[in-house]
Amino acid sequence: MRTVDTVVIGGGILGCMAARELMRWKIRTILIEEKEDICTGVTRANSAVVYAGYDNPPGSLKAAMTVRGNGAFDVLCEELEVPFLRRGSLMAAFGPRAEKVLQKKYSNGQKNQVPGLKLLSGKEACKMEPHLAPHVTAALYAPTTGTVNPWQLGIAAYENAVQNGCDILLNTKVLGIQKREKGYLIETDREGIACRAVLNCAGILADKIQEMLFLPSVRLFLDGTDFLVLDREADVPKYIIFHESEEKGKGITAVPTVEGNLLLGSSKRAFDGAYFAVASGSIERLRHSAACVLPKVDLNQVIRAFGAVRPNPYQVKKQEGGFVSDGKSIGSFVIENPAAGFYSLIGIKTPGLTCANELGKYLARCLAAYLDAEPNRAFDPKRRAIRRVHGMDFASRASLVKQDPDYGDIVCPCEDISRAEILEAIRRGAVTAAGVKRRVGAGMGRCQSSRCSRVIAALLEEEGYGAL
Ligand SMILES: Cc1cc2nc3c(=O)[nH]c(=O)nc-3n(C[C@H](O)[C@H](O)[C@H](O)COP(=O)(O)OP(=O)(O)OC[C@H]3O[C@@H](n4cnc5c(N)ncnc54)[C@H](O)[C@@H]3O)c2cc1C
Repeated sequence: MRTVDTVVIGGGILGCMAARELMRWKIRTILIEEKEDICTGVTRANSAVVYAGYDNPPGSLKAAMTVRGNGAFDVLCEELEVPFLRRGSLMAAFGPRAEKVLQKKYSNGQKNQVPGLKLLSGKEACKMEPHLAPHVTAALYAPTTGTVNPWQLGIAAYENAVQNGCDILLNTKVLGIQKREKGYLIETDREGIACRAVLNCAGILADKIQEMLFLPSVRLFLDGTDFLVLDREADVPKYIIFHESEEKGKGITAVPTVEGNLLLGSSKRAFDGAYFAVASGSIERLRHSAACVLPKVDLNQVIRAFGAVRPNPYQVKKQEGGFVSDGKSIGSFVIENPAAGFYSLIGIKTPGLTCANELGKYLARCLAAYLDAEPNRAFDPKRRAIRRVHGMDFASRASLVKQDPDYGDIVCPCEDISRAEILEAIRRGAVTAAGVKRRVGAGMGRCQSSRCSRVIAALLEEEGYGAL
């Protein structure tokens, strides 16, 4: 049986960031992920916003981590060579209820020390962002709001963790956890692993994982959200737009992503059991609201729709046949520590992406103290990104093609991605077309992979991965 210091359960953004942070210490760590690849859960479908920190109540852990996490994003993304854009955001109001919300958020933001916040009149907002509908009555401007590709960040953190010595078990499901005299035994469908500490980052299943050994204080109930992606050619807003609607909870989010597409997200809807599928009524509402808030955005330019699932932690009461919620979703981060060396992140919803690095640092510090671990002086925070031909000047591109003709063979014409980049993605861990897409973006463009999927399938097969 393998023995390590710490087992991280779950390879989403939280597990990957925590694994990377654990590598700053001399802590033998293994990350276990049920799926064939990392970042295939909640991390693969979210709004991609790095929040400024005015949404959360002053004095809360969430507020502090969001502001600190946001401030550290430039360095984090530089180290991991992941694109990050501080686009700034405008939260738009179209009436008195929403204006009040903006004032409250502004006051929160001041107390949370969010830099550069400004309350704008409707006229000022329209001047700044001509895409906003002219009947906007007020806006809250936050210059530090940014956007990052969530799965690229997760994959980069994972690669950096591995490069610094973290072990990985993919295609491995945790089935049970036992308490032992000096730690825990993790039972999986492949092997048993003895460890001194456990970090449960299992996303929507984190309550179930904790329940394998300890009763969690909360349970997760799921709801859904829908997204639309517009073609890069569409004329889109410069700023990230949050719409605080007059009807509470019915606003939209519009994010000009690092790839240059507009990502439109709806408010929450009931979860219908289909994890990444869209719900038609909700998509219609999203289109309608987007047309009202951003009338100049051409919704005929939509190239993709997808659904997302959100885990909401609730306090529960036990009843015959299971648990029922007390009806009030918990707003703060739930970090459970039911026994020495056992930590669970249960229901880390928005802004989990923004705070992933801070949460990882916090948990790594807790575990380092528990394990009495020394700092790892050999830790290298830098990770090299896959070299991209897109955006290169002609001379550099020509010289690269001379060195390796695969850089001249463009497989994904929509996103300008060469055979060499796809092969590199496969060599770094992509075993499916979706894995290639998450690493280099092949298939994310206007044709949504109809032109490149056959070649990508053939390259995967050549490299030993038959099934898509
Ligand atoms: C719709 C939506 C929009 C959001 N927008 C934003 C945003 O704009 N900005 C922001 O900061 N945050 C945002 N968030 C929050 C953020 O996306 C999440 O907090 C974050 O992605 C959660 O990551 P995770 O690692 O906990 O979960 P996941 O990515 O789901 O990872 C959990 C992993 O655990 C694995 N696993 C589960 N059970 C087992 C098992 N038994 N054995 C082995 N592995 C297991 C799963 O396969 C999965 O890969 C959003 C969330 C949602 C839902």
